[in-house]
Amino acid sequence: MLRLPEFRFFQPATLKQALALKADAGPDGMYVAGGTDLYPNMKRRHQEPRVVISLAGIRALRKQPAARRNGGTADGGYALGAGLTLTEIVEHRRLRKHYPVVARAAELISTPLLRNMGTLGGNLCLDTRCNYYNQSYEWRKAIDFCMKKDGAICWVAPSSPRCWAVQSSDLAPVMVALDARLRLVGPSGERVVPAAEFYRNDGIAYLTKQPDEIVAEVTLPAASGWDATYHKLRRRGAFDFPVLGVAAWVRWDGADVADARIVLGGIASYPQVVPDAARAIRGTRLEEDAVQVAADTAAGPAKPMDNTDFGLSWRKEMTRVYVRRALEELRDRRR
Ligand SMILES: Cc1cc2nc3c(=O)[nH]c(=O)nc-3n(C[C@H](O)[C@H](O)[C@H](O)COP(=O)(O)OP(=O)(O)OC[C@H]3O[C@@H](n4cnc5c(N)ncnc54)[C@H](O)[C@@H]3O)c2cc1C
Ligand code: SF4
Repeated sequence: MLRLPEFRFFQPATLKQALALKADAGPDGMYVAGGTDLYPNMKRRHQEPRVVISLAGIRALRKQPAARRNGGTADGGYALGAGLTLTEIVEHRRLRKHYPVVARAAELISTPLLRNMGTLGGNLCLDTRCNYYNQSYEWRKAIDFCMKKDGAICWVAPSSPRCWAVQSSDLAPVMVALDARLRLVGPSGERVVPAAEFYRNDGIAYLTKQPDEIVAEVTLPAASGWDATYHKLRRRGAFDFPVLGVAAWVRWDGADVADARIVLGGIASYPQVVPDAARAIRGTRLEEDAVQVAADTAAGPAKPMDNTDFGLSWRKEMTRVYVRRALEELRDRRR
């Protein structure tokens, strides 16, 4: 049985208290929300905070999904508290209506029990994953660890100076595709960052967020004139992490695609935007040939490493298939 290490636990009631506790703890302190990622990681000694600061009791993070401005409609976008559980997102009636892609991606995450605990903020900050890292301490010790924790070398690419652990959150590529904004609260105030700028293509320093900053809120853009979808590849539909996630967003101008974004998850250390693939469908009606060009174009820069489930050349090939399926779904819904 894997046991948690000893740690001190605090449950502040406000963001201010949480920030003060983190300032006191310094690098020894970490935030926890649902704990469905952090606690298993602590059991494997990936993260070893001596002070754990729970965000679960902070009301400001529990803001229910609500339309901004034009009260009652989603015209001004929707704001979601980062402390909402995935189940709350899945079951929220207006969110399902205005942002079905968000509810769908949340519904595809892990299992009902874990969705009852896991939060939006925790999902967006999810640690990157790798076959050589998501193992017990003893397993990792037997291979002399790796660069991401306790070691010096990357076993996936031994001559590489960087870690290639994989971004594995289902909501991250969706938030990048939607161009959602994250409101971060830190010791020196607040800042708002586009979801795409929240991530870094680095398996170790995979967030641009400072360790003491708290994700307080996620704002989705106004739900009009666009459509989006998310397709996920994994071995077991019941609860596996994505080894490929495709988020596709299009803005319609009548029957034509005026703008588009295609984002790949589970492929790199960050949600990978593939602008050339999006360019291939702008100005089209998502006819078969345009969809195929976009799918082929997206598969080009997708360079999965041999560090998650399935063979990497098959995952690359599936990028083509999943992008095509996602775009066909958007086209068929428009007709
Ligand atoms: C068996 C299993 C299957 C899973 N399958 C999937 C899956 O298919 N897809 C998927 O996306 N995830 C999956 N997960 C991972 C996890 O359950 C979810 O990603 C969940 O949403 C994490 O949220 P949490 O609140 O539990 O995060 P926590 O474990 O509480 O936190 C995760 C990280 O985020 C930080 N953090 C949390 N909230 C905030 C905040 N508001 N501000 C700043 N930092 C914060 C923590 O410090 C920690 O570093 C799975 C987990 C397990 C155990
Ligand atoms: S990609 Fe390399 S450094 Fe990163 S977790 Fe895997 S083996 Fe370790």
